Amino acid sequence: MGSKRPRRGRRARKLTAGMKWWGWGDPERRAELSESAVAAVREELDVGPDDGSEPVSIEQVSLPDGRPIPDAVRAAADDVLDGTDDRIRHAAGRSYPDLVRLRTGQLEYAPDAVLRSADAAGVEAVLDACAAAGVAVVPFGGGTSVVGGLEALSNGHSAVVSLELSRLRSVELDSQSLTARLGPGLSGPEAEAALGALGATLGHFPQSFEEATIGGFAATRSAGQASSGYGRFDELVTALELTSPAGQLRTLQVPHTAAGPSLREVVLGSEGTLGVITDVTCRVRPAPPTRVYEGWIAEDFEAGREIVRDLAQRHEAPDVLRLSDEEETRVSLELAGTEGLQKRALDAYLGLRRRRGGCLMICGWEGEREDVSRRRGISQTRLRLGGAVALGRSAGNSWFRSRYGGPYLRDELMNLGVLVETLETAHTWSRLDELYRAVRNALRGALGERSIVMCHVSHAYADGASLYFTLLTRARPGEELDQWRAAKSAACEAIVGVEGTITHHHAVGRDHAPYMRAEVGELGLEALRAVKERLDPAGIMNPGKLLPAD
Ligand SMILES: Cc1cc2nc3c(=O)[nH]c(=O)nc-3n(C[C@H](O)[C@H](O)[C@H](O)COP(=O)(O)OP(=O)(O)OC[C@H]3O[C@@H](n4cnc5c(N)ncnc54)[C@H](O)[C@@H]3O)c2cc1C
Repeated sequence: MGSKRPRRGRRARKLTAGMKWWGWGDPERRAELSESAVAAVREELDVGPDDGSEPVSIEQVSLPDGRPIPDAVRAAADDVLDGTDDRIRHAAGRSYPDLVRLRTGQLEYAPDAVLRSADAAGVEAVLDACAAAGVAVVPFGGGTSVVGGLEALSNGHSAVVSLELSRLRSVELDSQSLTARLGPGLSGPEAEAALGALGATLGHFPQSFEEATIGGFAATRSAGQASSGYGRFDELVTALELTSPAGQLRTLQVPHTAAGPSLREVVLGSEGTLGVITDVTCRVRPAPPTRVYEGWIAEDFEAGREIVRDLAQRHEAPDVLRLSDEEETRVSLELAGTEGLQKRALDAYLGLRRRRGGCLMICGWEGEREDVSRRRGISQTRLRLGGAVALGRSAGNSWFRSRYGGPYLRDELMNLGVLVETLETAHTWSRLDELYRAVRNALRGALGERSIVMCHVSHAYADGASLYFTLLTRARPGEELDQWRAAKSAACEAIVGVEGTITHHHAVGRDHAPYMRAEVGELGLEALRAVKERLDPAGIMNPGKLLPAD
């Protein structure tokens, strides 16, 4: 591995060339649903051929009139974009309600302008000007929040600006310490490409990898698909810089310190409410020369969970370790077009082993060849002892190839007229099944008979694991947001009812803020509010997120 100097102030990505304004990812790319998959979805969810609708055109979107941006704020920014297109593209994240509002062209909130700064000093100047003028600031990374984290709420301020960080894209590798200083505006692929050219990897691959940014990962405590091996993003961060309205807060770049409670931890997960994360230093690893992925089928969800627990508690979990429940296994095979020959071959294979159905597991190992081979051997022994049947590498490779495809599929399902949303939580092993049943029952109750509620485990620890739910039902035109609200609040109530966490990795934003009291208690909220008051005395930073209103 070599070393690299920082690159500052590179030309920003052209805003209008980014993600689909109404959906996910590359505007040129769409997922393909086979005819049989479409038929199965329609049949199972009672969706009619006339139910679906395509998004309106961007010219048809209605949004609130832009309020004036004070001259001092304009002067502090390097770029000020107040055209309708830019305001629309920064008005929402990518949750189901965000997508409904964008696709139907009904935006209740939008920033009054989009600002950009070239560096941390520029960010500081913008925050100073906004604080003096009483203008709220929403830091904007990749725009992939799924918890309402980007909603342009003014909470009494005269205007709201979206502070887009795409110009802060420096990369500096310390190859001796195996750490990298990264600009917050780097997207996942940009960071990996720059590190890959130097022989390193971060190993952080969330499903939103293609669009989300380093600053966003830190601000939301993101967890990637390979978190069992590489760690969650907050575990990778060794130091950071927060540019707040009260000044800059930097943590030392040292491997560990016993100097009191960690301010790094306070900033991680602050979701833009304390300031802007303008510099992030992460641990990196040498890029893995070998990757092996394979599929397994566990007897059922409970047996699969026992295997995951066993591997996690032996500290021998594969780098990627995922377990789908029966419903998710069935639906993903159907939607992936695993039908006809492929499906029959899979059934025949399982039949030979006296197995019907079961739960899909994906295991992936990355690293030096000998190490991969040793760890894979241990995992395979435990998987077999737990009653799982090997499906081989093609199932694993097929998951690996399509691991960022889910959000494209969601766009197509919405075109068909399907309400599709995800949510996640976590608990200890001893209460994981209770949490699973509580959330599943709550969602089924809220959505009704003709719906699908499925789940997977994708982040495992010695003491517990996360649960990630996907729900699908027929979207009733004009009532989609009410349907979503009913399902979301039922699930959140179920989660707090069994003392699970309201979020394992999607963060709090606006949608989970009402549940923060259950998460940290009244005194905990007061302590968080006191920190905010010190760093953001005028309350301009991302109002209405993370902390509940009352
Ligand atoms: C299809 C899909 C799949 C997803 N999969 C995953 C997954 O596998 N794992 C996972 O963890 N999450 C996932 N997410 C959620 C989302 O991608 C993460 O929360 C991500 O970390 C957000 O990064 P971003 O750059 O898009 O941030 P944004 O969405 O732009 O911002 C998120 C929040 O962080 C704040 N923020 C952004 N940058 C900064 C900064 N530099 N300083 C201070 N505050 C900032 C914003 O104000 C906002 O409150 C997924 C989302 C989608 C739509």
